Order: sequence, then C-alpha cells, then structure tokens
Amino acid sequence: MSTIEQIVNLVRNQREFFNSGKTLHYSYRKHQLKLLKNMLKAYEKEIHQALYSDLNKSAYETHTTELGFLYSEIDFTLKHLKKWMDPEKADAPITHKGTRNYIYKEPYGVILTIAPWNYPLHLAIAPLIGAIAAGNTAVLKPSEFTQSTSSLVAEMIKETFDPSFIAVVEGAKEVTKQLLEQRFDYIFFTGSTAVGKIVMQHASKNLTPVTLELGGKSPAIIDKDANIDLAAKRLVWGKFTNAGQTCVAPDYLYVHSKIKSKLVKAIKKYITEMYSKWPLENDDYIRIVNKNHFNRLRPFLSNGKLVIGGGFNEEDLKIEPTILDEITWNDPVMQDEIFGPILPLVTFTDLQHVITELKGREKPLALYYFGEKEKSQQNVLENVAFGGGCINDTLYHLANPHLPFGGVGNSGMGAYHGKYSFNTFSHQKSILRQTTKFDLPFRYPGSKLSFAIV
Ligand code: NAD
Repeated sequence: MSTIEQIVNLVRNQREFFNSGKTLHYSYRKHQLKLLKNMLKAYEKEIHQALYSDLNKSAYETHTTELGFLYSEIDFTLKHLKKWMDPEKADAPITHKGTRNYIYKEPYGVILTIAPWNYPLHLAIAPLIGAIAAGNTAVLKPSEFTQSTSSLVAEMIKETFDPSFIAVVEGAKEVTKQLLEQRFDYIFFTGSTAVGKIVMQHASKNLTPVTLELGGKSPAIIDKDANIDLAAKRLVWGKFTNAGQTCVAPDYLYVHSKIKSKLVKAIKKYITEMYSKWPLENDDYIRIVNKNHFNRLRPFLSNGKLVIGGGFNEEDLKIEPTILDEITWNDPVMQDEIFGPILPLVTFTDLQHVITELKGREKPLALYYFGEKEKSQQNVLENVAFGGGCINDTLYHLANPHLPFGGVGNSGMGAYHGKYSFNTFSHQKSILRQTTKFDLPFRYPGSKLSFAIV
C-alpha cells in the first residue's frame, strides 16, 4: 500500500521524466515494448501460478486469453509503430494554397490506468502497450480482488522498468481515490459503469481526458434460420470462458421460439464436450473470483426454469454452466450484468420486437446475432447501438487488432487495441506549414475577394 506522499512523488517523478523528452524517440519506445514482452516471457511460470491461484485459471485459458493476446498485441505494435508515429499528411482547400498540412501524434504525458480483476494480467498490461507505444509514462493500478496477479504485476514491472517511466500502485478503492486526486494527463479505466462514473467525475476537475472500458448486458440473438449447432458451440465458448466473467460474454439469449428446444439440446452437448459431464469436478473450469460475487450469483439459479446445470460448490466457489428458461425482464437475473456462468433465455417470435426492446435499453458493450439472412443481419446492425460484436460468432471481434475495441453510452467511451491504442494515447496535433514565397491577399481586411476562413 502506498502512502499519499509516495503517490505524489511518483506522479511528480514521472512528469519530470516525461518532460526530459526521452520517451519521444522511436528507439526508446521500441526498446521498452521489447522489455515488456521479455518480462512476460521470463515470468510465464509465475503468471500461470498467480492466475491459477486467483481464478483457478487453466494453462489453456491463461495462454489463449491473457498471455497470447498480449504477445500478439506487442508484436503487432512493434511491426507498425514507426509508421504510426510518422506525421500524417492532410489535404487542404484551395484557400490554403502554398501550405503543407500534417497531423502530429503527440503523447499526452503521465497516464493513469486502472484495471479490473476478470482478466487481471491482460487488462492491466494491454493499455500499457498503447501508452508506451505513444510515448507516455504510466502508473498502473491492478485490481485488489486478484491479489496474486496484482503482486506479481507489481514485482515484474519493478524489476523491468524505471518507476519514473512505468510503475504499479497496488491497493483497493481508497488507493484509487488517492490516485484520482492527482493530476494525470490521461486516465484509462476498465471496470464497472458505476465506478466509471466516479472516475469521470474526478477527471473532470482537471479536464483530464478519459477512456472508459465498461460493461453491461450484452445480448445474443439466435434467429430461426441460424446454424444451430455452430451457434450453440460458439455461444458455449463465449459464455463459459472464464466462467462468464468476461465483459463481452453474451449476458443473455434472445432465442426464436421455433428453434429453442434444438438450441438448448445443442448447448447441452457442447457444455459436456468442453467442460465434461461434471464441470464442478473439472480442474480446468474457472471459479468465481470471491465469496461476495459467488453469493451475488447464487440466487439467480432459482430464476425462471432451470434447463441445464444449476449445481455449485460453495467451498471451491464454482457454479456449473447454467441455462435458465422462461425468463422475463422482471427477474432479478435480468436487472444487471450477470458476470458469471449463468445464461438466461428470453424467447421471441418477431425480430422487430427484439430490436424495439433493445433500443429502449442501455447500449451494451457487445451484441451477437446468429442467423443466415443478410437482411435481418443488417436490420440489427443498423438499428441497434452497441460497442461492437459479431454476426454468427461471439467474442472474436476483440481479438482482431485491426478493429477498435470499446463501448458506447453506458458501456463506455473511447476504444483501443492495435493502432486504436496508439491513437487513444496520442493527442492529434494539427500543424499547418505556411509558405513565405507568396501571400494570398483575400483573407486580409480591405481585400476585394473574401473567403470564409473561420
Ligand atoms: P470495478 O469497477 O469494481 O473495479 C475496477 C477498478 O476500479 C479496480 O481496480 C478497483 O480497485 C477500482 N475501484 C472500485 N471501486 C472504486 C471506487 N469507488 N473508486 C475508485 N476506484 C474504485 O470493476 P470490476 O468488478 O473489477 O470488473 C468488472 C466490471 O468491469 C464489469 O462490469 C465488466 O463488464 C467490466 N469490464 C469491462 C471491460 C472492457 O474492456 N470494457 C473489461 C473487463 C471488465
């Protein structure tokens, strides 16, 4: 736990270091990104252990959803960084004859990034990749709920980086509050909508720009012409990865009444295939992060009609992959983001009705539509607002570094990944280089010709 004095000194030292201009150079940024990758490689064994201890995360999920993502993101950034850093040429109207116009990418300065517990390594390190690439310094606050990973991240970063460049401050919300009292040049927050609002309130005191990566109830719509078997397979994977503790997991299903029983049957088949007949005894099945979250989720098991799962192990904090049928919007499970391995099912007969209903709710972080007809796909895409998503798949969009990842409305603001991370952590500075060889007269008072300039 850091004292307020240590936090004040840390931010001051980082600002001094940033002002030294060292981070502006391509070679410096490239070197630091390589150090970050080497750090993760060197600590792989400890990372697996920490994630296992915090969430019972299997070697497979640690590789695919935490380390694998970070390695690809660092490699992608290293490959393109030089080009991203180059000033971008911009066009100009005829009134600007003789000028050359550019967009320079300028680092903001000292960044604060606050991470959640559900992918405690991935979501702590991914924003750092963008912050370093764009030439900033950064203070990172990991989640206190996943203490093994938080301590390990602190240790790794301390071993690898000068704290005036990158540093970790550990602790709970009291520490976050102290951090938020400081003047940062950018705040990147990943977490709940409720805390996102607190962060933005603090940021407004200094007009600090923010990116808010938040959550919400992300629906999956399974239409009557969907490929049922594939839909079931991709839904089971998307929902029960990390035991449903994924910001973009399908929170609930809208299923066309004509295919409901076939879909439920296929979902059952894939749950057994991926997690065995007894998921609670499967060593690789992720647990709920802590007792509070377990106790929050448990009452949902008696909502609607239980059709798959429903079992739990209080000692291990595990809940079976569960499907609930006959759910209505009045049920407790439909009031907030579930963030656990419980998938409620709402039936529909008219897609238009689903679209109208979604338009009346908060904009979700993700939406998934399963169906073959392009017209229906377009209907959903054009009429429902949401952060991002897939047609005939779940989660996969977030692993494409060419796509921006972020929410809208209650699910957040701003985006990152790949070039979008670099852009997020860079101010776009517009520069006009004027000629001194001639001077067009029309903008000056007294000129016979006049143009609208501003
Ligand atoms: P959270 O908002 O409770 O906590 C996130 C961070 O904020 C933690 O580091 C925590 O210490 C800090 N914090 C908590 N309360 C605070 C307060 N009152 N003041 C200041 N700081 C505070 O979120 P969580 O439970 O860790 O994560 C789950 C949420 O995050 C879900 O809603 C999920 O959808 C969302 N999420 C979003 C994304 C995304 O990329 N959009 C990714 C993962 C998780």
